[in-house]
Amino acid sequence: MSRTNGTATLEPTRTAPIAPTAASSTEEPRLFQRVREQMDRAAEAVGLAPEVRKILAAPACEIAVNFPVRMDDGRIEMFSGYRVQHNNVLGPFKGGIRYHQDVSIDEVRALAAWMTIKCALVDIPFGGGKGGVQVDPATLSRREVERMTRRFVYALGANIGPGYDVPAPDVNTDSRTMAWVVDTYAATLPPQERYRALAVVTGKPVSAGGSVGREKATGQGVVDLIEMWAADKNCKLRDLTCTVQGFGKVGAWAARILKDKGAKLLAVQDVTGAIRAPGADGLDADALAEHVKKTGGVAGFTGAKAIPLGEFFGVQADVFIPAALENQVTGRTTRQLNVRLVAEGANGPTTPEGDAVLRERGIDVLPDVLCNAGGVVVSYFEWLQNRGGAAWNAAEVDQRLRDILERAYARVKGMVAEKSLDWRTAAYAVALRRIEQVYAERGIFP
Ligand code: NAD
Repeated sequence: MSRTNGTATLEPTRTAPIAPTAASSTEEPRLFQRVREQMDRAAEAVGLAPEVRKILAAPACEIAVNFPVRMDDGRIEMFSGYRVQHNNVLGPFKGGIRYHQDVSIDEVRALAAWMTIKCALVDIPFGGGKGGVQVDPATLSRREVERMTRRFVYALGANIGPGYDVPAPDVNTDSRTMAWVVDTYAATLPPQERYRALAVVTGKPVSAGGSVGREKATGQGVVDLIEMWAADKNCKLRDLTCTVQGFGKVGAWAARILKDKGAKLLAVQDVTGAIRAPGADGLDADALAEHVKKTGGVAGFTGAKAIPLGEFFGVQADVFIPAALENQVTGRTTRQLNVRLVAEGANGPTTPEGDAVLRERGIDVLPDVLCNAGGVVVSYFEWLQNRGGAAWNAAEVDQRLRDILERAYARVKGMVAEKSLDWRTAAYAVALRRIEQVYAERGIFP
């Protein structure tokens, strides 16, 4: 599906759909190819209908926009952004918006497909989408980021909407970014329809239509899943030690909730460096989150010692939580790991070679599509509250999240046992079966 809008000189332009295999050689590794291979493996394992495999092998729609932004000094800069809508058979496209210098169509395509799998796995009525702008927001002022966000939303126009495609925060975007999205989207609607703009994104500030518990939701889900894994191993969270890569929205919340439950945080790495707890008591995750808020990274945190990046992966702990970017758990880093479980807070942190080494070394994995699904589940709650004019309390949000994740965990565990699969393949298999069921019932128009 290609979409165009009447373009004037400074208006956004949209390209025709980009072929799913069109990633350039500079976009290594080709993430979408990896997702397709993961889907194929799971499809084989459960004998999925070939038509469903065919449909999911390419995104339904890809939007690329180039749009102008006025800088603080009056100059105009052009920015490139994407929104990929992978599949919406289960419900509106759903997925975050990322600001990062390495954003590419291939990456956004993979992230969108992972959302399709994730929403189907946890059985919420959403499909998969993802967006991104190729920019390092640290090089822009706050006002420039705001203007860029607003122009990106304007460029996307009617390609997003409460019943159609519902973005959320991702890397380098947050609740404030989402508030700008709502405000800009509302301004594009006739006044009588602006009331429905609230549900165009999730992850908004609570004071501006967000849900209680959304900010911590992904980290909360990661901890809930680790707790379920621990229960299967007859241990408690308070007995566990962990290391975390990435101390942003996902990593910091996971670490803080783990601290509340008595687990020890032994080492953290982010874009500014790596630190290690000096003693067995671990790092204070709350104080570290404050430090990161003030300084932008974990480097320089008093009460920790700086360690070389190479040392971080070798720190002995029970659980490693990658919560930064893709391709961090590689063949090389996995050989250094000294843990029992990798709980994937990030999307796509493990490469296929990393996966093979994890299997070979007997290290358990809670795969991303299960482990970080807490965010999209509470996004679903936020969307429901917006559409129903309701406000749930924290206990209600936490309990409903826990129930959904427990059911998803049980389904994956059941699939692991039924088909003798690894957890990642089993998670995909559960999701694909769910999607297959809907296609079987609805058929394909015409
Ligand atoms: P964020 O921008 O809040 O934090 C990103 C963190 O990663 C920062 O601490 C940053 O310093 C670190 N980082 C960046 N590059 C790094 C590098 N090369 N090495 C080490 N650390 C690096 O982003 P976030 O929202 O916490 O997202 C983190 C991951 O979790 C992403 O993969 C994202 O797609 C995934 N995720 C996020 C959500 C959500 O609700 N925010 C939901 C599901 C999955």
